[in-house]
Amino acid sequence: MQSLFTFLFIIVAISNSFSQQIYKRTLTLMGSRFDITVVAKDQIVADTSIDIAITEIKRIEKLISSWDKESQTSLINNNAGIQPVKVDDELFALIQRAVGISKLTDGAFDISYASMDRIWQFDGSMIEMPSAEEIKASVAKVGYQKIILNKEESTVFLSQKGMKIGFGAIGKGYAADKAKDLLIAKGVSAGIINASGDMNTWGKQPDGSDWKVAITNPLNKNNAFALLPVIDKAVVTSGNYEKYVIFDDKRYAHIIDPRTGYPATGIVSVSVFAPKAELADALATSVFVMGIEVGLNRINQLGSVECIIVDDHGNIHTSNNIKIDDQ
Ligand code: ADP
Ligand code: MG
Repeated sequence: MQSLFTFLFIIVAISNSFSQQIYKRTLTLMGSRFDITVVAKDQIVADTSIDIAITEIKRIEKLISSWDKESQTSLINNNAGIQPVKVDDELFALIQRAVGISKLTDGAFDISYASMDRIWQFDGSMIEMPSAEEIKASVAKVGYQKIILNKEESTVFLSQKGMKIGFGAIGKGYAADKAKDLLIAKGVSAGIINASGDMNTWGKQPDGSDWKVAITNPLNKNNAFALLPVIDKAVVTSGNYEKYVIFDDKRYAHIIDPRTGYPATGIVSVSVFAPKAELADALATSVFVMGIEVGLNRINQLGSVECIIVDDHGNIHTSNNIKIDDQ
């Protein structure tokens, strides 16, 4: 009897693991394409889980959107130079971490980039380089040092009039992390939250294999030069090959150095692997600004963070612990 029971149990266990399948839904959230993938035993369970993730991402969008005039982020921006604004602990903590990443990258990453005057156009309409004075003036209101945080009061104060913060380079990563955490808490065994190339993964595919991410060379789009496993971690790719302008044979990318007002040069794509998509997202943008040498140096000093850079000439540069055979 005992052995029959064991036998039946094994059969049930096997059939359960075999009936797990991958379900995916694609939709627009936070103004971007999201692909939400879960492993579940049937469509109904998958749909319920995906709906939970969507509700969570919409909740975060409401908190951090600069477009939504009612959001706490807009309230902070509207009170720049006027008064501190009390915000939810969650938003306060996100801003605090963002400022931490600014310190880590010597200001290459800066959520106050949002007040930058848009003097660069990357649609082909620019015929000459802006003047040095114009460029300097464009970043006059930028500076994470001017974001005043008060933890006891949970307030955020932008100390200069006209300052603004924006989560364009960190928000999608944060949303991917939060959706993942919630689905794990709800018992979803595996999945991927992919926010237009900002993704976080957990668990394994139903056949027991790891989730993998293809890293492509944007200068040679058909060529995926690496297929790397992502085991319970995040990978974010920040690409920059469509929007740029060329002056004197120099290619200026659409990500702008918030410290100088000059666009980043030399890099077309950065992929960052990290435990959290939020950090990976912010660092991918930062590496663009810091450049290959400083960027890799900084990444190599961080534990559990790796990076792959494709430069202007299609050359591939990696942090210390990434091994790519086929270059
Ligand atoms: P994408 O979201 O297109 O993948 P990124 O993650 O690199 O690209 O984010 C680019 C966005 O981040 C910009 O559109 C802008 O909103 C914001 N941003 C640009 N430069 C910076 C910067 N130096 N620090 C923080 N945010 C930035
Ligand atoms: Mg980013």
